[in-house]
Amino acid sequence: MTQQNIAPSFKLTRFTCPGCNQLSEQAWFNTYANRIASTDGVPLRIQGADLERLSQNPQFPPEVRKQKIEYWNRVNSGEVFLDRWAPVHTDVFVAGLELSVCHGCMQAAIWLGGEMVYPPRDREE
Ligand SMILES: [Zn+2]
Repeated sequence: MTQQNIAPSFKLTRFTCPGCNQLSEQAWFNTYANRIASTDGVPLRIQGADLERLSQNPQFPPEVRKQKIEYWNRVNSGEVFLDRWAPVHTDVFVAGLELSVCHGCMQAAIWLGGEMVYPPRDREE
């Protein structure tokens, strides 16, 4: 059985996933903005020596440390994905920016102005 190929589209809920290349259902999400409240006012990234310190931090059980390291490695590599974080309350809606997420692999795609901008179409794996 050959699988049908349906190009990702802003107007569909089922298309060939840009992450896993399987034809699958896609859930669409609106996006909201939440002002970054870190002390230095810029997005948080834990990398290099700080990530190494986190990987040894005895405050966290080994399994939690492993999850945190995996999380930061994905973020640091430029991956975009959905994650549960602290609940936020915001009414700041990001117009013109949507996400589609594959039911199969959970890969998120970013759509700007109705065009998919992530993942890049000719990304090399
Ligand atoms: Zn997928």
